[in-house]
Amino acid sequence: RPRTLSGMQPTSDSLHLGNHLGALVNWVALQEQFDAFYFIADLHSLTVATDPELIRRRTRVTAAQYLAAGVDPERSTLFVQSHVSEHTELSWILSCQTGFGEASRMTQFKDKTAKGHAANVGLFTYPILMAADILLYDAAKVPVGEDQRQHLEITRDLAIRFNQRYGDTLVVPEPHIVKEGAKIQDLQDPTAKMSKSAASDKGLINLLDDPAKSAKKIRSAVTDTEAVVRYDPETKAGVSNLLTIHSVLSGTPVAELEAHFEGKMYGDLKKETAEVLVEWVTPFRDRANELLEDPAELDRILAAGAERAREVASATLGRVYDAVGLLRPA
Ligand code: ATP
Ligand code: MG
Repeated sequence: RPRTLSGMQPTSDSLHLGNHLGALVNWVALQEQFDAFYFIADLHSLTVATDPELIRRRTRVTAAQYLAAGVDPERSTLFVQSHVSEHTELSWILSCQTGFGEASRMTQFKDKTAKGHAANVGLFTYPILMAADILLYDAAKVPVGEDQRQHLEITRDLAIRFNQRYGDTLVVPEPHIVKEGAKIQDLQDPTAKMSKSAASDKGLINLLDDPAKSAKKIRSAVTDTEAVVRYDPETKAGVSNLLTIHSVLSGTPVAELEAHFEGKMYGDLKKETAEVLVEWVTPFRDRANELLEDPAELDRILAAGAERAREVASATLGRVYDAVGLLRPA
């Protein structure tokens, strides 16, 4: 099976509905077709200063949610980035292949610093660590959203350049274009995507929150004044977002929902969407909490994953060290 790889940073106490429907659902599906490597990007999360205890806790919390979503540790390799030291080692080698100007063109760094994030060098070299994450596992395809497209591009450039300079060593990854339909918008500001970094959390559905609280947020979602339940993200962003959420979670096509809600009010749409959410999120949350109640078992799963990841990663790093001419220890 071809390899794929993806990760998320442990930067919140709960994933949100957008993370789940936009990313985790795909990860679970990709397991069928790919030899998948899924990791918790704890090293990346250090680019923003965070309380150490919080990072540790969130690393487990994130892992538990991957598992609750259906990432199967028997089929896929689930691990913590910092448990596999090859990530930082390859990152150094790749740094020495990256032009300063090339790294300076990364828009995510420019955007974040423009927004006033204190810039450290780690944030600047973040795409190089990400390139190492991908290239270590000979990933043929990588699922990427719009925000990560440029980082995959530099990963490809680095692999191609490395291979030209040192001979065929690294697999050049292709983007895996994920089928659309699962982009979730903020419930209070439906023209913006649901994001953990939104100014207010009123429009954010956290999967580990009390489901009653999330139901309430859905019932308070911003809609419009037309009073017709119709899917049109351009002019009816709020209503369309609720239809998307309902549709994905209940498995009902949007057209069927439009027919179902014909002549009904937004209150009905909200009430039903809230019910669908509660029904779906309750077992997810129970499963994640169950895993978190046994951190030793969770750590064991992560240790086994790290061991498997290291086997692949150390072989790739060995090839790279040989290629660039580092003398290997006897
Ligand atoms: P930040 O605001 O810090 O970027 P985020 O809420 O966007 O946080 P990330 O950690 O950047 O979350 O994203 C993790 C994964 O979830 C990525 O694959 C991203 O594409 C996906 N994702 C995030 N928000 C949404 C959303 N609203 N709809 C669909 N997918 C999303
Ligand atoms: Mg994001």
